[in-house]
Amino acid sequence: MKHSKIKVAFFDTKPYDRQFFEAANRDPQYGFDIRFYETRLTPASAAIADGSQVVCAFVNDDLSEKTIRKLHEEGVKLIAMRCAGYNNVNLAAALGKLRVVRVPEYSPHAVAEYTMGLLLTLNRNLHRAYCRVRENNFSINGFLGFDLCGKTIGVVGTGKIGLTFVEILQGFGVKILAYDLFPKQEEAKRLHMEYVPLEELFRRSDVISLHCPLTPENRHMIDKKSIALMKPGVFLLNTSRGALIDAPALIQGLKKKKIGAAGLDVYEEETDYFFEDKSDAAIDDDVLARLLTFPNVIVTSHQAFFTREAETSIAEVTLRNIRDFFQGKELVNEICHLCDGKRSCPGKSNGTPCRKK
Ligand code: NAD
Repeated sequence: MKHSKIKVAFFDTKPYDRQFFEAANRDPQYGFDIRFYETRLTPASAAIADGSQVVCAFVNDDLSEKTIRKLHEEGVKLIAMRCAGYNNVNLAAALGKLRVVRVPEYSPHAVAEYTMGLLLTLNRNLHRAYCRVRENNFSINGFLGFDLCGKTIGVVGTGKIGLTFVEILQGFGVKILAYDLFPKQEEAKRLHMEYVPLEELFRRSDVISLHCPLTPENRHMIDKKSIALMKPGVFLLNTSRGALIDAPALIQGLKKKKIGAAGLDVYEEETDYFFEDKSDAAIDDDVLARLLTFPNVIVTSHQAFFTREAETSIAEVTLRNIRDFFQGKELVNEICHLCDGKRSCPGKSNGTPCRKK
């Protein structure tokens, strides 16, 4: 099939997506007919994909059973996720109907560097200092931080991003604890990190950073119970997925000063807010609104991935995934239905077990 005849319905488009995808699509090996839509993908908006063979979707699009059924009825053959996480895709519903690809790696540096930025900003109160000085207030009262050197950092999830974060930490003279369902002992030796059970990581860390995917098993891994185990004043960083943290429990921890600071690039109920300009409206979500009141909390709008390099790579890999599908090549970035989002997996979505099983 000629590529110019392959229609791609691109949902939740922002100007920057369009810029990078149009640039990548100029390459003669792609040249797809991409239709950019600002609307998010939902069961109701799925009808827009009518006549498209491919749907390109992002982190807050709704790929529930209902949407997938609708896309299948519209003749869509492939869902091309332009992100790494796929917790919003009902893989079981797609099995036998649609194949699902993703971009498993675009720039682990983008997210890992951003995580470090959150940590340094929170610890040294850069966010508050910036505002204070602009008001001609040159006081440093309340900005007392701590030396990271000598502290213990707990990293949950030592995949591409977690390990890149650990590499960045090498320059800080910290002790690194790690937890992963699949420990990488060689990397542990190379990067001077110690794998410990999750509870031990919670008990011993001064800073805890989440870098694991969201799965049905680890939803609210940070809750009242796990917070109770942590050191008083612990810093929590989440650049992974919002639902790893039970936000009301986090708020209680912050109020009781058990949590010293939180850097959140993701939030469980982010769908209605993140990536959108809501500056003219009041926030209906009381949990988000409360989080935004703490001076020791930074919430950002799922932007850790957002670098030139990552955007270029996302566009390139997504178009390559689509090309490979239509050329009948092996889909190296297909998601395994059998894993059903339980954990990160580089396997297949046509029912073949993934390589890790
Ligand atoms: P990855 O697949 O390379 O690594 C994930 C690691 O987590 C693996 O080692 C896996 O074994 C481990 N893991 C799985 N379940 C776990 C559990 N319950 N407890 C502990 N470890 C577990 O993924 P990655 O590229 O490093 O990305 C990690 C996550 O970061 C993604 O799943 C995604 O949710 C998030 N992410 C966020 C952004 C952003 O902009 N904020 C961008 C990209 C990715």
